Amino acid sequence: MDLQEYFLKRDFAQTPEPDASMKTYTSQPPRFVVQKHNASHLHYDFRLEMEGVLKSWAVPKGVPPEPGIKRLAVQTEDHPLDYIDFAGVIPQGQYGAGTVEIWDSGTFEIVNNNEKILEFNLNGRRLAGTYVLIHTGGKNWLLFRKNK
Ligand code: MN
Repeated sequence: MDLQEYFLKRDFAQTPEPDASMKTYTSQPPRFVVQKHNASHLHYDFRLEMEGVLKSWAVPKGVPPEPGIKRLAVQTEDHPLDYIDFAGVIPQGQYGAGTVEIWDSGTFEIVNNNEKILEFNLNGRRLAGTYVLIHTGGKNWLLFRKNK
């Protein structure tokens, strides 16, 4: 786990975001969240509880609700586990300034995890089904829902 980038990007005297994780263990089953982040560019932050942190991707067009739609997902810095419950306003001038709301949350299970592919079942309020993240290079991944 490496939260250094998360901490370096933020001024916790200014932002209401979690400044530490009280939680250091991963839930069983692990949880996911999709946070709608209305920042300079609206996007959806997709986060999975893994390896003691929230592995995170910014998905400009949102997590596809059905198969047949591939969405760009740009990996962002690991976030502390407590961020899974964060919703609120990040003040102007701060990193990610804008509003954050929880768009979906639930649990997931990993189906396949290798260097290039992360496949998992999401059990959320809005999203349910098998999803795949494929690493296409650098920070870029493709996110799509699999056919049954
Ligand atoms: Mn964001």
